[in-house]
Amino acid sequence: MKKFDPSVAIHDYLVFGEFGDVNPSITDSSTFTFLSTDKMEEIFSHEIEGCFLYSRHWNPINKYLSDTLARFENTESAQVTASGMGAVNCAIMQLCGVGDEIVSSHTIYGGTYALFKNFLPKFGIKVNFVDITDLKQVREAVNGKTKVVYCETISNPLLEIADIPSLSKIAKSKGAKLVVDNTFAPMIVSPKRLGADVVIHSMTKYINGTSDCVAGCICSTHEFISQLNDVNSGASMLLGTVLDSYRAASILKNLHTLHIRMKKHGENAMYVAKEFVKLGLDTYYPGLKTHRGHKLLRSMMNDNFGFSGMIAVDVKSEKKANKLMEMMQNEKVGYLAVSLGYFKTLFSAPSHSTSSEIPEDEQAKIGLGKGLVRFSIGLDNNIEEMFGRIKKCMKKLNIV
Ligand SMILES: *Cc1c(COP(=O)(O)O)cnc(C)c1O
Repeated sequence: MKKFDPSVAIHDYLVFGEFGDVNPSITDSSTFTFLSTDKMEEIFSHEIEGCFLYSRHWNPINKYLSDTLARFENTESAQVTASGMGAVNCAIMQLCGVGDEIVSSHTIYGGTYALFKNFLPKFGIKVNFVDITDLKQVREAVNGKTKVVYCETISNPLLEIADIPSLSKIAKSKGAKLVVDNTFAPMIVSPKRLGADVVIHSMTKYINGTSDCVAGCICSTHEFISQLNDVNSGASMLLGTVLDSYRAASILKNLHTLHIRMKKHGENAMYVAKEFVKLGLDTYYPGLKTHRGHKLLRSMMNDNFGFSGMIAVDVKSEKKANKLMEMMQNEKVGYLAVSLGYFKTLFSAPSHSTSSEIPEDEQAKIGLGKGLVRFSIGLDNNIEEMFGRIKKCMKKLNIV
């Protein structure tokens, strides 16, 4: 396959603002005028791209950001949403109805897990959870009722890697769509090029990168994005997950530094992961040759953006994990906070925070230990010095 560089794809999408401004103007209108009644009728009867009717449907700045994201994920089209969960919901609700089934990885973001496990059954949608790295299990779970195979490129929090080309083949063989949450791997992996039908992001994380807002996006075909926007039957139109246009403008500006940030997050995380290994800690990082999914990720990656900034390390005890995080915050390593992709390092213990929606017995089954600490490594210029502080905390607590 021809090499793809998402940073070039974004860079090449150059549109001037209406006054030749280098940043497109922020849409400050909820509604748009029509010069003729005929035109208005036409828009209501079938969607016309590039025509604006009402801001929940489309508005210029949201369209601009969406088009940039489509370039970025190499899809025909895209749509921004008010949150990552908004993106997950719209995609799933559009693809599934009563009696339909989803085959999903069991190691997914806690919110998505809760949606699939507790919420979708209310609408007659059944979700079968599988170990997504076990293709035999996936093949056996997919049946004639399956509408969606769902996974995360790099999963939360154990950083397992989904074999997107193989999953795509399995989904296609039964007429199901492969939906991939690419939140942990923007720039690094382009799932559509590997066979995904729908690519989702929580832009709250790396894409925006400043932890100042919540947002999401769905990247897919023209056909699917127009279905989402159908005034009579579109999930995005009817569930009302529209992104605020001021936020669309600020996210667009941050998107243009994403390639630099991903490289730096990846470099820093690789350094920290290797140091953790040297200290003898149980370390999960897909950049390490010893990681289960390392080779697979290598086979799917775009060049030069590293292996992402997420590391999980098991300190084997809940008490020690908690003490360590408080101590690291006092030492100004970063913040005890959920989320990821911020310029400072963030850390949390997934088993009692971001993955607490997953029941304890299920957590044990998927190998999510109570002493697991998840790091979103920041953009520190001197990561060696920062690691020294982490090591000092670990030594004090007899973790190493
Ligand atoms: C945060 C996150 C989500 C949900 O996104 P929000 O923007 O918080 O709604 C979905 N998937 C993954 C992998 C996430 O990390």
